Order: sequence, then C-alpha cells, then structure tokens
Amino acid sequence: MKRRDAIKKLSVLPLAGAAIGSTLPIGSCTTGHAAEKRDLFKELDVTPVINCRGTITILSGSLMLPEVMEAINQTSEQFVDMFELQDKAGEKIAEMLRCEAAMVTSGAAGAMTLATAATITGTDREKIRLLPNLPGPRPEVIIQKTHRLGFDHQIRNCGVTLVEVEGPAEMEQAINSNTVMAFFFNAARSHSISHEDFVAIARKHNIPTLNDAAADVPPVENLFKYQEMGFDLVTFSGGKMLHGPQSAGLLFGRKDLIEAAKLNNNPYGDSIGRGMKVNKEEIFGMYAALKAYLEKDHEKEWQEWLDRITYIGDRLAGIPTLTCETVLPAGVANAFPSMDISWDQGRVRITPQDAAGALRTGTPSIHAGSRDGALNIQVILLKPEWVDIVAGRIKEILEQAVYV
Ligand SMILES: *Cc1c(COP(=O)(O)O)cnc(C)c1O
Repeated sequence: MKRRDAIKKLSVLPLAGAAIGSTLPIGSCTTGHAAEKRDLFKELDVTPVINCRGTITILSGSLMLPEVMEAINQTSEQFVDMFELQDKAGEKIAEMLRCEAAMVTSGAAGAMTLATAATITGTDREKIRLLPNLPGPRPEVIIQKTHRLGFDHQIRNCGVTLVEVEGPAEMEQAINSNTVMAFFFNAARSHSISHEDFVAIARKHNIPTLNDAAADVPPVENLFKYQEMGFDLVTFSGGKMLHGPQSAGLLFGRKDLIEAAKLNNNPYGDSIGRGMKVNKEEIFGMYAALKAYLEKDHEKEWQEWLDRITYIGDRLAGIPTLTCETVLPAGVANAFPSMDISWDQGRVRITPQDAAGALRTGTPSIHAGSRDGALNIQVILLKPEWVDIVAGRIKEILEQAVYV
C-alpha cells in the first residue's frame, strides 16, 4: 500500500485524532509494508534511553545477548511441559555451575522468596499451601545487622521474622528451634561475621544458608565461589551482567532445597511462587545467557570497557580543568570500571547533577550518575555506536558551560 493510499484509508475512519488534525500514527497503519519497520517505541511514545547508569531495574536492567534472543525466538513456536523444562534446564545449569541442583527464578528477588519458602516448608504440601500464615511460632531468619537490604521484603513475605545479629557469638546465640535459614548479603559494605564463620556456625546447627550475590559478576569465578565455600543456596540475577532476561535469575545449591523451592513455585497454583512466573522462553534464555557468559572472553570484554573510557576521555580533552578518572567500586557488586568526570565549577559553570539532567533531557536521552562532585559514566552497557554519541553530548554540555 502506498503511503498516500494509507492516508486516504485513514481519512475515512472516524478517528478523533483526525478531526482535530493531530499527528496520526501513520507508520503503525502501514505495518506489513516491507519498507516500513514497525517502531514500538514510537507507537507507544516511549523514549528509548542510553544507559550510563548500570544494570538497574528502573532502567530495564541490561540488554539481552543475541544468543538469548535467539533462544527466546527459537523456542517461542512450541509448547513444553513446564515441569520437564524447569528440571532439565536446572540439571544443565547445575552441571555448568558445578553444584547439586539449580532452577531458573523470577530474578534474584524471586529466588530469595523461593529459598526462604523452601527452608520453611521442605516438601510438606500442607505447609506450602498455608504459607505465609503457618500455625505456631513464626519462623526466623538470621541476618547480620549490616546485611539488611532493600530486597529483604522478599524474605519477609514468607511470614518470617528477621533476627538481626552482630558477630559470630550473637549469631550462635540467636539460633533456636524456630530458625529456618541464615541469609547472607554478599555485597554488604561490612560483615561482622565472615563468609567462612557464617557458613560454619550455620552448618554446626544444621541451618541452611542463602547467599544473595545478585550483582556479583564479574569476575566469572564468583559463579562458583560461594557453593564451594559451603553456602547451601546461592542466587544471581539473570538480568544484570549475565545479560539474560531481566525477569529471570538463578537459584542453585543443595538438591533437597531446590526440590522444595520448586514445589513452592509455579506452575503449582496454590503456592507462594505462583505469581513469580518465568515463561518458557526466558528459562531457555537464562540457560543460553549463562552458557554464553561462561564461554565469553572476559579479559577482552574488560579491555573494551577500558577502551571506551579512554575514547570518551580523549574526546573531552579540550575542556578546561577537566579530569577523567577510571573508577572501580570498592565492594564485590558491580565490580567493573566506570569513569568519573570532574571539573572546576568556577571555570565550567555547571554542577555534575545539572550536567546529568541535561544529558537525560537531551536527545537522545542519556541516563548518567552524579556523585561526590563528579559525573559518573557507566560504559559497560553501551553499544559500540553509542560511545561516540555519549562523548559528544557530554562535550557539548560542558563546552556550553565554560566561563570565558
Ligand atoms: C539486583 C539485586 C537483587 C534483585 O535481583 P533481580 O534479579 O532484579 O530480582 C537482589 N539482591 C541484590 C543484592 C541485588 O543487587
């Protein structure tokens, strides 16, 4: 259909938009026309964003690898038995991660709930049905004071009490017959109980441990480290640096606990995990993401990140008083290089916050961080063609602010 014909057709439709002469979504009416590719961002008027903030959920995490999209597309045309898929994907993932058992969850957050549920109910169908309101005393989960995190709601939603402890002696004292699990936040700023002591104390009292390492690759070795240390369960996000589906994650470790977690999960209807569904494509996609991540040349990828930082720094070289610094976070989460850009605000008269604001409201919209007097640019999620665009926009904004 020629565009003129399409417009003609449109004009006979009783569209309110036509009457007031507003811009009609002509493109969307000519889909199927080979020359015009459907643009869903336009169709819903949603602004695509260049992400220089990192793998954060509010910016939709990370982009899925081509291998993941291939898995999703390739498996979308058939039906499967979801029990079989979860079991077989889990077996393969467990093999890859050198542990007893594994499952794909709805992110690390979903894994936290299923892990907690598993330690409360085991394979008891009645308890699974009653969760989170079991009769009797509330189950307790041990957590270090410094390990409280914004995600601990995903543990509390199983109807447990979080028991905060500080130091090994307090942990040991806190354990009682209601204790179901000991939760460890791997990337916490400080640990009053070391990984090793935590595992040893829990083991001694037969309390299962869960380590939340959601954002803790790279390095790739971390995918193996914590089960080797003796944690009974470990979780990683699928949608962060593993570049899997944003709504998927991994829970792995002890076989009996993974079995119990599966019983608390969809596709079982009367379960706490029923609302944490991961579709079959994303289960395949999560498997494909893990496989691709394990096979990746991590040194080469790291070098590419450093090269991007160098490139952006070089493009900004002419701006007076400007300094670019490659920074690594202190902790184990998001442990990859980014760049801090700073300047003398007497000479370049814009705050890092306002520079970030200008990047965000410009075209294309670029989301960057600002902290401690510096503009922070995360380069790990940039497509190659975005690097120059980001550099150009920063240059433009800062050059306009130079006081002469
Ligand atoms: C991101 C994150 C989560 C949640 O992971 P999702 O995969 O988004 O569900 C949980 N814990 C920590 C420490 C995280 O960084």
